[in-house]
Amino acid sequence: MSSKLLMIPGPIEFDPSVMAKMGQPTLSHVAPAFIESFGRALEMMREVWLAPSGQPFIIAGSGTLAMDMAGANLIEVGDKVLVISTGYFGERYAELLTRYGANVTFLQSEVGDIVPYETVESELASGKYKLMTFTHVDTSTGVLVDAKKMGELAQKNNVLSILDGVCSVAGEEIRQEEWGIDVVVTASQKAVGVPPGLALLVASEKAMTVWKNHKTPVGNYYCDWNLWLPIMQAYEARKPSYFATPPVNLIQALERSLELILEEGMDMRFARHKRLAQKFRNEMRSLGLSFIPKSAGVTANTLTAPYYPEDVNGGEFLRKVGENGVVIAGGLLPSHKTQYFRVGHMGIVNDEHIDRTAGAIKNALQVVA
Ligand SMILES: *Cc1c(COP(=O)(O)O)cnc(C)c1O
Repeated sequence: MSSKLLMIPGPIEFDPSVMAKMGQPTLSHVAPAFIESFGRALEMMREVWLAPSGQPFIIAGSGTLAMDMAGANLIEVGDKVLVISTGYFGERYAELLTRYGANVTFLQSEVGDIVPYETVESELASGKYKLMTFTHVDTSTGVLVDAKKMGELAQKNNVLSILDGVCSVAGEEIRQEEWGIDVVVTASQKAVGVPPGLALLVASEKAMTVWKNHKTPVGNYYCDWNLWLPIMQAYEARKPSYFATPPVNLIQALERSLELILEEGMDMRFARHKRLAQKFRNEMRSLGLSFIPKSAGVTANTLTAPYYPEDVNGGEFLRKVGENGVVIAGGLLPSHKTQYFRVGHMGIVNDEHIDRTAGAIKNALQVVA
């Protein structure tokens, strides 16, 4: 077993009781015990997403598939969409929606900043948009968008909203229903705390109504809610069903992780992520590092993106941190790739993880500087 601490923005460190589910003998997808696990996982998603009347979906895939599922079911050819981008994953959403025939208007922030809310508001006020997407935490920059505010703007202008929460759900505060966000998508391997392989989303009643009224067939067979909604409903009703084989062990691992998340409680969980993020950034500041996000108000709590000090060779530095027992990530944004690194701190992250990571970085900087 590797003893290196995995501190990248997903996959992350997972709880041993979650990992134990991965090693259990695999049950039939219609075994009563598995039906119970799937049903409970769906019910608990509503609590974690804070979306009591939302429709949860769990399917085999990664976060990109969750983004794809939301797009495929809500977009028809010619629909006008506003994509608000704070980095790499905003560009991905624009490309993805274009495949379904969306007419995309793309608002791109400056690196390290958000698109000003006034700009979003005046664009939405044009009245032409059916849907908008925004990235809650852009994993390429560590920039955090105010999801509550975005939900308000979307509601006010009667535009459907999709939040890419792949790097935020179960880490950053999201109150999907109270904040009026229509679809919140994520993946298992980030703050939800389960190995890679699950695409997860919760859709609002409004989103489900818009989907039900679609005029043309959903443009993606595997993602079609016509095929998946009856499956989710059957598992919640504790009845056997089949469309495509669910990843049995992963879903049992998800059930366990959601239990742990709810045992901690959402408010405690949001507060812990905030506290540990601040602690880690203070450590980095004390080493003289600065960050891609331009101000505290746009800084994520699930990952940190510091610039390398001048004269530090990124590859050499990352290797040295690895030798010190901690795995962190390089830059992702093409324009700035060689200038910064990324550290994930989400899920079961604790003080000891932060201390070990900061220690490994401090030592590596002393060696390579
Ligand atoms: C990781 C990530 C994705 C992509 O998820 P995959 O599981 O790699 O497909 C999309 N959006 C954000 C914000 C992410 O952090």
